[in-house]
Amino acid sequence: MEKKKFLVCIDSDGCAIDTMEGKHKRCFAPLMVKTWGMQEHGEKAEEIWNRISLYSMDRGINRFKGLEMTLRECVDAGFLQEDLTDLREWIGSTDILSNQSLEEQIGKTGSPILKKVLGWSVASNRAIAALPESQMFDGVKEALDMMNRYADLAVVSSANREAVEAEWERHGILPYVKAVMTQDCGSKAVCIARLMEEGYEGDQVLMIGDAPGDQKAAEKNGALFYPAVIRREAESWKRLLQESFSCFLNGTYRGEYARQLTEEFWEALK
Ligand SMILES: [Mg+2]
Repeated sequence: MEKKKFLVCIDSDGCAIDTMEGKHKRCFAPLMVKTWGMQEHGEKAEEIWNRISLYSMDRGINRFKGLEMTLRECVDAGFLQEDLTDLREWIGSTDILSNQSLEEQIGKTGSPILKKVLGWSVASNRAIAALPESQMFDGVKEALDMMNRYADLAVVSSANREAVEAEWERHGILPYVKAVMTQDCGSKAVCIARLMEEGYEGDQVLMIGDAPGDQKAAEKNGALFYPAVIRREAESWKRLLQESFSCFLNGTYRGEYARQLTEEFWEALK
């Protein structure tokens, strides 16, 4: 396939596909309450989970880091008695926060809390797999169809490859992308860097995402960032199609225009 001048990287969860609310509100949060026996304060505990993982600058945070932060708040609020030391130490000791790396740590330490964390994580995966099929945000297909004429498109996601490819295939948007970069390729910043090795300049690369981590990954590579603003995702895709993508192509995106978008994006996460 011939290389185009521009590259657009697209996050999947919570950006192109509406998966975030279901995963967090119906799986991670209630299963945390169950695993740590917090039913009496379940509503409060779930609210803390959702605030951290969905509605803050930490949106999109790794599940284990989000769990540690949430449990810490529950302990501080006085309705959970749990020693979080082993969890904190494991998080601080590895770059790979996955069930497999957690299993290895349990093998080494036999830590009871880490066993609980693994049980919760496995149960969450099972619950997520059983969720009804997720929807694509309105306007995604139209935007991809239009951008594809001017730019190479790639998925950049921290989810697993099989899940992302299956979802994009099911929604009929997989044919628009030239590459699918997922957790097996490394962090999002590494994925963008690898795609840019094909020869795109920073101002010719746009990362579309719904989390501050997506923005950081773009900035690390000198690339531009377009936010899918939470609760206004469809509107965001429409604006991209009608306005922002032209700014990107004609070189007026960086600077004041990008700054305004970022401001709006951060405001929605407060
Ligand atoms: Mg996302």
